[in-house]
Amino acid sequence: MSKFFTENLKNLTPYTPGEQPKDMQYIKLNTNESPFAPSKAVSDAVLRESQKLQLYSDPECTSVRKELARIYGVDFDQVIVTNGSDEVLNFAFMAFADDKSPLLFPNITYGFYPVFAELNRIPYTEVPLKSDFTIDINDYIGVNKTVVIANPNAPTGIALSIEDIEKIVKSNPDNVVIIDEAYVDFGAKSAVSLINKYDNLLVVQTFSKSRSMAGARLGFAIGNKSLIADLNTIRYSTNPYNVNRMTDAAGAAALIDNDYYMDNCKTIIENREWTVNELKKLGFEVLESKANFVFAKSDKIDGEKLYLELKNRGILVRHFTKECICQYNRITIGTLEQMQKLIETISLILKEN
Ligand code: PMP
Repeated sequence: MSKFFTENLKNLTPYTPGEQPKDMQYIKLNTNESPFAPSKAVSDAVLRESQKLQLYSDPECTSVRKELARIYGVDFDQVIVTNGSDEVLNFAFMAFADDKSPLLFPNITYGFYPVFAELNRIPYTEVPLKSDFTIDINDYIGVNKTVVIANPNAPTGIALSIEDIEKIVKSNPDNVVIIDEAYVDFGAKSAVSLINKYDNLLVVQTFSKSRSMAGARLGFAIGNKSLIADLNTIRYSTNPYNVNRMTDAAGAAALIDNDYYMDNCKTIIENREWTVNELKKLGFEVLESKANFVFAKSDKIDGEKLYLELKNRGILVRHFTKECICQYNRITIGTLEQMQKLIETISLILKEN
């Protein structure tokens, strides 16, 4: 750290992204990416726009917002797009939370929430999950705080019902409720259907998982026009060109090919069910996932040991050191072939132990 880093920020603990080792070719099941390549229309759009990189991108992101409005049945000005959904989460924290409206989120959830809170110096409370890793919605009813819930939650994969989400939103009319639906396309129900009913609901999604565009960085939020206008005030005060022209065009092309991506999600769901069954046959306890990953542990092997043994054999999964979840590993669902290799390798490791 330099001597110039401000007093306010010197204790900031940054987010740790999933590892991307370059020493060998791994089966990558550690960052919840899609195993499927983008559709041809997306690559063509990127190539086409790459010929125009001398020009700034469209600050209104018209192409992709138009398509999002069409797919989700909302108005153009109910949508904002950003550089990954991480960016819109950060904007939403900046816009809607402060000392008077502090943040509230589960103690086991997406690791960026406390980082954004600290970066923006917003007080926050982490609510313990129940012992079965589910959310007790009573903890979020009428709390007078800015609530943030990942639905499905990460890294557990467990989803709340739309009825429960609505109860939380309805009971906090004076605060924004942010529902982070990064994994919603893998089996949970989206709260987008509620945005015209509640002016305090902001739904955040991403192209990184179900639409195979993690490397392009495209996220979005849908909500009441005024919420979106506030987020645009933040966006135009930081970086109006936050989405580059290749990503804007790629996002629009992906939505025109939406059926291809939704079919891929069905395949991932099938592969997930296959993987859950096989892990259970090997004696694993697996939480009920509605995401493109599963969270699993076995009494036969320590969580970190399994992660390291898999890594030695060329398979990367995500292990967290936090005590209450350190026996688990979060395993991204890939192709059936990748999952077969994973199960084969785990069986071997268990035998050798
Ligand atoms: N929310 C959750 C719950 C996530 O797991 C992630 C991915 N790490 C994100 C948001 C951010 O994804 P992205 O910035 O790639 O859209």
